[in-house]
Amino acid sequence: MATNAPVHTGRHFLQIPGPTNVPDRVLRAMDMPTIDHRGPEFAKLGLEVLEGCKDVFRTKNPVIIYPSSGTGAWEAAIVNTLSQGDKVLMAETGHFATLWCTLAKKFNIEVEFLPGDWRHGASPEQIEARLREDRAHTIKAVMVVHNETSTGVTSRIAAIRKAIDGAGHPALFLVDTISSLGSIEYNHDAWGVDVTVSCSQKGLMLPPGLGFNAISDKAMAAAKANTMPRSYWDWHEIIGSNKSGGWPYTPATNMLYGLKEAITMLQEEGLDNVFARHLRHAAATRAAVRAWDLEILCLNEDEHSPILTAVLMPDGHDADRFRQVTLDNFDMSLGAGLSKVKGKVFRIGHLGHFNDLMLMGTLAGVEMGLALAKVPHRAGGVTAAMGVLTGAEAKAARS
Ligand code: PLP
Repeated sequence: MATNAPVHTGRHFLQIPGPTNVPDRVLRAMDMPTIDHRGPEFAKLGLEVLEGCKDVFRTKNPVIIYPSSGTGAWEAAIVNTLSQGDKVLMAETGHFATLWCTLAKKFNIEVEFLPGDWRHGASPEQIEARLREDRAHTIKAVMVVHNETSTGVTSRIAAIRKAIDGAGHPALFLVDTISSLGSIEYNHDAWGVDVTVSCSQKGLMLPPGLGFNAISDKAMAAAKANTMPRSYWDWHEIIGSNKSGGWPYTPATNMLYGLKEAITMLQEEGLDNVFARHLRHAAATRAAVRAWDLEILCLNEDEHSPILTAVLMPDGHDADRFRQVTLDNFDMSLGAGLSKVKGKVFRIGHLGHFNDLMLMGTLAGVEMGLALAKVPHRAGGVTAAMGVLTGAEAKAARS
């Protein structure tokens, strides 16, 4: 029956910074009969994905896989390592750091929240200074969001590790890699992170539904001594079952089939190539935004996110109305501005299962949307991005 609603043909452009496009290969891998999660076939799958995850987090230690969203994995990191009344240091990088802080407070964790302007990453200098002051070592953990998905700013995790070491402070280091794992360089072991929190629906190219905690020996020891009541999230029992490829409860079987395929895809491309691809697409996107004469929310050159670009709307123009125009006209979803920046920014997601032409389609959709929504801008963003992708600018600079 014909209606007045626009009929969209071809594929929807899902250009939010997660959930991301799920590759057909992953969808096909998940399209399997659900098997006995206590049988030998499942145990093989369980052991394979648990081992494969270590590669992606770059750790030799166990990785916990929960049937949960990222928020569950946030909670798991807290209830396993911290006790009621413990003090932690966090940095206000944006909406997601604020949510993690709120969650921690619900468990009676005392959070010292270093204020931020949502345009910079967590400051290693500020963290080091605060830890140096804490001579009695009352701060039990430093908690940082690696890639702040609400602002397009990536914090420098290796530098923050150095800052903690520089202060000679024994605090645990808890890092949210929910929108960075499998797309931005990350090294759980080499960067001395104690708990890395992540989930399935971003760089891992899976649907939402899996949460992760990668844990250090120091975090395991903290968990053993920790008095916080916990059951579903408790690492101890899960690690015990995982040794033989099982879980203490019914795992998300078909998501694990998908995870196995997604890890294979990341290994085939090579993680370093995956990171380089995201950096290149981010550089092309920023060239487009600058050519449009619009402002990028992130202010630090060395903190631009490789996986999304948050763009400020000119005064008097509503980002959500602009996003509605791109959705209605081009069947493309762009990320909304969240809480403090609602209506003020839109976010271009360029991560996961993605290539040059998908990026060009995305940027063409944005440029056409800006024109249709009558947002003041200069034309030529798409051309500028093509210049970055084809290396024309680099060649011109050499000749
Ligand atoms: N942390 C970051 C950086 C995120 O981007 C998100 C979601 O987008 C979350 C945490 C919350 O994850 P979830 O919505 O899967 O619970």
